[in-house]
Amino acid sequence: MIDYHLHLWPHTQRDKNLTLDFIASYWEKACELGISEIAITEHLFRFKQADWLLSKWWECEEDSLLLRHSMENYWYMHIGADLDVYVDTIIEAKKAGIAVKLGLEVDFYRGKMDKVAKLLSDYPFDVLLGSVHWISTWRFDDLSDQISMDEWSLRDAKTAWSRYLGSLEELLETKVVDVIAHPDLIKVAGFFPDEGFKREFESSLVEIIIKSELVTELSSAGWRKPVNEQYPSIFVLSELTKRNAKFTLASDAHNINDVGSKVNKLRDILHSLGLYKIAAFTQRTVKEINLYDS
Ligand SMILES: [Zn+2]
Ligand SMILES: [Zn+2]
Repeated sequence: MIDYHLHLWPHTQRDKNLTLDFIASYWEKACELGISEIAITEHLFRFKQADWLLSKWWECEEDSLLLRHSMENYWYMHIGADLDVYVDTIIEAKKAGIAVKLGLEVDFYRGKMDKVAKLLSDYPFDVLLGSVHWISTWRFDDLSDQISMDEWSLRDAKTAWSRYLGSLEELLETKVVDVIAHPDLIKVAGFFPDEGFKREFESSLVEIIIKSELVTELSSAGWRKPVNEQYPSIFVLSELTKRNAKFTLASDAHNINDVGSKVNKLRDILHSLGLYKIAAFTQRTVKEINLYDS
């Protein structure tokens, strides 16, 4: 088994020093669960290099002042770590014998993805996850933020789901990332459109993923959220399987307790769909490994 989506720090934590011991503790927990390879995939927006590149990106977005302010606060709460130290520490962990991949979780910054690609090309990443966590400046998945959650009662779910899909498609078209993280994250807070629209959304999501030729993440994080199901839905998974899509497994842990969380349950889902291979990455090149030997 693999866990290809791990964060080092909870969203609320401000100090962000990374040590080899810290990675070793994640690895120890993963080994206890029978996981043979992990990828550390911290958010790009944790690093001061992202701020130098993308600072005040929200000012170009057409949203309410309230939402833009909220995004500004969120951004500066998270910025602080040094990408060079992060990369060096993970390389050190590899040299120490830990089966860890150097990754990053990358959001969609409209019109700025070429700059993001240029920054990231300076580092020896193994895998880059692509994510949509916000629609313009609305953090639709920030369950702890009242301003963001209040938006769900002000907006039509169909429009929110459509706009999410549009941003995801634009992100995938940039070809900056390797894996589509939590592909139907828009369901996180449990606000669904009607069944017919949901099915249309899911079919379009499948087409977008297949067209991108990227790997899809199967994530257990949704079981820890109001929606209480894995990402993506079983319908999306089974359609992707029929179209020969490739998958990684992911907990999206933000602390050691969630490392490897329910990854075995994800493996069982893939097995039930008749899949016996899984995707792993080295230097951004995908290789399929056995679901059970991995
Ligand atoms: Zn994410
Ligand atoms: Zn994540």
